[in-house]
Amino acid sequence: MRILVATGLTQGTAPTDYHHCVEGELVWIQEPCDRDLKDPAMPCGCGRGFAGAASHRATTTAMVVDTEMTREEVVLAFNTSLVDGGWPSEWAETVADDNLVIAAQLPAGAIIIRELEQFFLRGALFQGPGVG
Ligand SMILES: [Zn+2]
Repeated sequence: MRILVATGLTQGTAPTDYHHCVEGELVWIQEPCDRDLKDPAMPCGCGRGFAGAASHRATTTAMVVDTEMTREEVVLAFNTSLVDGGWPSEWAETVADDNLVIAAQLPAGAIIIRELEQFFLRGALFQGPGVG
């Protein structure tokens, strides 16, 4: 199965990039605030963000990775995260499925960015020929 996690890869490609997450943590898609919904420049920046499940911080870049985790384990991880962050734990399944639906459409190594409800491919990490 594939999941979407925070990455620092390709950070800085856009001047509006930010990365406060822990590398490789699960991310979820939060509703943007009114500032970003009403202004295409997204002055707040949350409309460009992926929220880190472990750090409770955010990043503008996320990567698809292969995982041994099951959907149930991803739901459980988000359940714990949401409770820790003061969000309703009932969101866990929806938040998990949002993550999994995005990841399922892309190959492992795909790096994406967000503009409100739209997601765009920024880059891809893949294996080159081995050295030595
Ligand atoms: Zn905002």
